[in-house]
Amino acid sequence: MSEVLYDRLALIGVGLIGSSIARAARQQGVVREIVATARSEKTRERVAELGIADRVVATNAEAAAGADLVIVCIPVGACGPVAQEIAPYLKAGATVSDVGSVKASVVKDMGPHIPDSVHFVPAHPVAGTEHSGPDSGFAELFANRWCILTPPKGSDEEAVERLATFWRALGANVEVMDIERHDIVLAMTSHLPHLIAYTVVGMADDLEKLVTSSEVIKFSAGGFRDFTRIAASDPTMWRDIFLHNKDAVLELISRFNEDLARLGRAIRWGEADTLHEFFTRTRAIRRGIVQTGQDSAAPDFGRRPEQLPHVPIPRPYAADGE
Ligand code: NAP
Repeated sequence: MSEVLYDRLALIGVGLIGSSIARAARQQGVVREIVATARSEKTRERVAELGIADRVVATNAEAAAGADLVIVCIPVGACGPVAQEIAPYLKAGATVSDVGSVKASVVKDMGPHIPDSVHFVPAHPVAGTEHSGPDSGFAELFANRWCILTPPKGSDEEAVERLATFWRALGANVEVMDIERHDIVLAMTSHLPHLIAYTVVGMADDLEKLVTSSEVIKFSAGGFRDFTRIAASDPTMWRDIFLHNKDAVLELISRFNEDLARLGRAIRWGEADTLHEFFTRTRAIRRGIVQTGQDSAAPDFGRRPEQLPHVPIPRPYAADGE
């Protein structure tokens, strides 16, 4: 068992991320008690059945009251109203965090509601699958993945370090990053790729005159198949990500359009060297990702926990970390 870092952890939202935090925090023994809540009764009942929290309560306020660490694990568009709702119930000295995939808007929407006596340390675990809901989570989700903390200027260093230690105990590598930098980096590495996947899969669906749906499904080669995995991600979550990281995503879409046009021109004019040089450069990026352990070279379509490259959480976790 690891060192207890917080007495009571409150999880507001228990989908893929919230339920994975619950499972990993319990497995690692970094909290004494887990209190959870979700928006719908159906999810709350399922969380109780799964037994991944010590208590399941009906309201966000009940969950937040008396908690030492509150993690809001809901779509980014819903974070502001939830912060407003829980603010009067937060315990002095507690830490409030989130897991949203966009940070500037979350800081803007949640920050003003958090009382001065409470620490606010936004976070983004860069780990996930295309699945949603409390059944889809698993304790190893964060193992060897990055968790980016974006504490606003002037944040309490001890509170930031404690949350970093919590995420390390869950198996993540922690990086502290500037809020705006986070949003542009993630727009490039996550948001734009998702938008492209949604576009390609939607396009195949619209193209029925040329290629029938059954042909698309039957002959889905690796490239398209991988796009369909990404494009199966939760529509609400991704709607909110694009609407809340608008500027960074729009900037990258315009660059993407230019680059795509350049490749189209090279294909039209038979510029073989241009294409070959470009694809050689991109191949090196893939090798770099595999070498840093951020993916496996094995085919990973339809990733499920049992098929993920086995990266155990260090146990017992050494609190003085890396
Ligand atoms: P999820 O599996 O769909 O779970 C979402 C949870 O939020 C559910 O408990 C849901 O409750 C609750 N919820 C939804 N809308 C809400 C609202 N308007 N008000 C209050 N609660 C609401 O989602 P997830 O994948 O865990 O994602 C949660 C957060 O993690 C998002 O901000 C996302 O950007 C971030 N994130 C996701 C990934 C990923 O790959 N999935 C990776 C990193 C970060 P009900 O079930 O009762 O509706």
